[in-house]
Amino acid sequence: MSNNNEWGFATKAIHIGQEPDAESGATVPPIHLSSTFTQQSPGKHKGYEYSRSGNPTRNGLERCLAALEGGTWCGCFASGSAATAAVFASLSPGDKVLAYADVYGGTFRMLKQVFEGFGIVPIFTDDVSASSFANLIDDKTKIVWLESPTNPLLRCLDIAAIAEIAHSVGAKLAVDNTFATPVLQRPLTIGADYVVHSTTKYIGGHSDVVGGAVIVKDDALAEKTMFLQNALGGIPAPFDCFMQHRGIKTLQIRVERHSENALAVCKHLAGHSKLESIVYPHLESHPDYALAKKQMSAGGGMVSILFKGDDAASRAAAVKFCESIKVFSLAESLGGVESLVCHPAIMTHASIPKEIREARGVTDGLVRLSVGVENIEDLLADLDQALAKA
Ligand SMILES: *Cc1c(COP(=O)(O)O)cnc(C)c1O
Repeated sequence: MSNNNEWGFATKAIHIGQEPDAESGATVPPIHLSSTFTQQSPGKHKGYEYSRSGNPTRNGLERCLAALEGGTWCGCFASGSAATAAVFASLSPGDKVLAYADVYGGTFRMLKQVFEGFGIVPIFTDDVSASSFANLIDDKTKIVWLESPTNPLLRCLDIAAIAEIAHSVGAKLAVDNTFATPVLQRPLTIGADYVVHSTTKYIGGHSDVVGGAVIVKDDALAEKTMFLQNALGGIPAPFDCFMQHRGIKTLQIRVERHSENALAVCKHLAGHSKLESIVYPHLESHPDYALAKKQMSAGGGMVSILFKGDDAASRAAAVKFCESIKVFSLAESLGGVESLVCHPAIMTHASIPKEIREARGVTDGLVRLSVGVENIEDLLADLDQALAKA
């Protein structure tokens, strides 16, 4: 079976990098735990020397992810954060990174508390519009970094427009595609140069493995990132690669169901007397609705709900809701088959100063739902009973 670019998404997800084992015929290839590979003659081998630089199980996962994102090369990492670090490690002192301010907290922290110390200059914009990127970019900018949709307000940024702005000064656009997944949008096909994933989320999909990936479509970037993957060494274990690759086989049907369930949750909760608003990219009330419709084939599995009332009242209602929910688990992270709820102000966004957090709309009455793939009737009944107690 060859890597067939004509295949549909699910066919690629199931077959690329999962060719039956040549030796045994095993339909699911074995996990290659070996750290080293025996050579026939010094320098003469079957393509693998040492598992940090290359491992067949990891390579299968990498080929699959590259194909799903429309890239030519993928490098896998031990976490999404390690993948992110490998992209920034390509920079030199004095280089600027222009990023949307409300990126994943760990990415913000890495830029401010690690890479800034090495002389990289992070610049942040609070505005999702492409023109705000155009206003802040200059010829020292080497990487433009964004997420779309963002967390937890699910703002969408115009990947194609921002790619053009980045390229106008010779910068690369990196898109953290963790929330949308390649099922809903493929940034490399609309101008982005790097796609980064926390495969911990939808790609792994079962909340049982931590991983990351960088995918590119340009040979020079592939070579640079492959060098950094090997030189920095933040690679995933073969077993973790197997787990992620197993998850990917159902990525399309999972993300489709996540999106259907999330939209059904939005419709069910619309107009609820205890809720101020419901945030979902494919709802007409969303500020980026038109772009989200154009850029994403469905709205994804994440929904945020805002409780009514002042700070204290909305926070009390949100906390009571989180304590009362039963089918959903109260936990950080997202993208697994099981539904989760999270209170960003107290949990994931607690380290951001209150004024900054609130200016970005992450207020005390906000609750984020990662809508899973359980039966929708059970999810709706659970939301109803928890809302009744809130
Ligand atoms: C979780 C997450 C990360 C970090 O990934 P880890 O696997 O936890 O290191 C980066 N970006 C986004 C959007 C995430 O949700």
